[in-house]
Amino acid sequence: MSAKYVAEPFRIKSVEPIRMTTRREREEKILAARNNVFGLKSEDVYVDLLTDSGTGAMSIDQWAGIMHGDEAYAGASSYLKLTSAAKDIFGYGYVQPVHQGRAAEQVLFPLFLCAGKYAISNMHFDTTRAHVEIAGGRAIDCVVPAAKEPSTRAPFKGNMDVPRLEKLIGELGAENVGLIIMTVTNNSAGGQPVSMQNMRDVSAVCKRYNIPMCIDAARYAENAFFVKRDEAGYADKSIKDIVSETFSYGDVFTMSSKKDGIVNMGGMFGVKDGDSPLVLKAKANCICFEGFYTYGGMSGRDMEALAVGLYEGIEEDFLRYRIGQMEYIGARLDEAGITYQSPVGGHGVFLDAKAMFPHIPYYEFPAQVLALELYKEAGIRCCDIGSYMMGNNPDTGEQIESEFEFARLAIPRRVYTQAHLDVVVEALIAIKERAHTIKRGYRITWEPPVLRHFQAHLEKIEE
Ligand SMILES: *Cc1c(COP(=O)(O)O)cnc(C)c1O
Repeated sequence: MSAKYVAEPFRIKSVEPIRMTTRREREEKILAARNNVFGLKSEDVYVDLLTDSGTGAMSIDQWAGIMHGDEAYAGASSYLKLTSAAKDIFGYGYVQPVHQGRAAEQVLFPLFLCAGKYAISNMHFDTTRAHVEIAGGRAIDCVVPAAKEPSTRAPFKGNMDVPRLEKLIGELGAENVGLIIMTVTNNSAGGQPVSMQNMRDVSAVCKRYNIPMCIDAARYAENAFFVKRDEAGYADKSIKDIVSETFSYGDVFTMSSKKDGIVNMGGMFGVKDGDSPLVLKAKANCICFEGFYTYGGMSGRDMEALAVGLYEGIEEDFLRYRIGQMEYIGARLDEAGITYQSPVGGHGVFLDAKAMFPHIPYYEFPAQVLALELYKEAGIRCCDIGSYMMGNNPDTGEQIESEFEFARLAIPRRVYTQAHLDVVVEALIAIKERAHTIKRGYRITWEPPVLRHFQAHLEKIEE
């Protein structure tokens, strides 16, 4: 891939100062945060790549929309604007705002899942898995085997393993599979895209067995860009048409709008058949959990910003620039011999910490080591997507060994420039050069029972 940086299709009107600290300051800050990046203050971070969720920069049109926000409890014009944009782009009969993606899961999943039922996905995001379980169901991941080989460059590593899906349905019994969830792009596998052919194939399986299909659509626009670029027959289609075809294969969708919607807070769900009895049930849940259905936990001004963001997120120039940022990082890492989930994902670069620290075992958390080194090196914040995040087996209490040890560089939308990305790459090169001198990892001195990675305390193991 070419290392040429795709110039920003925007110029900068408003700036937010950030400050570089000294190494000594950072060593103190991270120790005070007990070696947990979630414990750092944002003001002590120089380049913040913790997540691309809700961290994007809004456009002049989005900020202008904020002033048009209609804060009426019922029937707000901002609601009508948002739902007409969403219906136009996704083609679903019913769409509903909610306060973020996990709220859509909370509202919809109990309508499909209960004790004894399974959800099968190309990979569940962590809140998605949690809501499957809260509804009483069990979550099974079924991604193609290629996803598990970071250094093997292959297109559409986010796909569902369709033969295995059919085998699973056969074993579990179709009547026990409550939902098939297609996550586009596949976040947990490294932001890897799903091909249209795979959407079509999974949809055919769903129809054959009469199982509803849910699209977990946080990064639908990035996925459409990959389809246009890499899948035969799509080069001349517009992103909007590709998005529309993608959604046509689902029955319902859940969405975090904090990603490709380019807003700081918001979410949505949709039901393709607007006359389905599901709609009434979903509305009832929404009114209980989120608020009346014409705002669903969002303020009028935020619905305005999202109505604009939905269109900006599918602009091809924007997507070319955005995926170009990932490609740029990837090309520079290739030159430096630093491995990552290859090719780069749509929202970030997932560094292979196992390759960087082959001598550090999973139970000393190599990806957490890399995340902490990046902070100490240059004030860059990223996070572990590996054994540290996986936590312990709930039955045995034993540390789970993750298939991946990724340190994720998630790139916020329209926020950082080429020079910021260079700072990141140069820090990584410096760490790689001394990686062999970092002999040991970390041990956990305190952890909460669930989702421990957000709050746990860690201590460096003496060398
Ligand atoms: C972010 C995300 C969610 C959850 O959305 P929130 O807005 O964080 O609640 C669900 N699925 C995927 C794939 C996501 O990336």
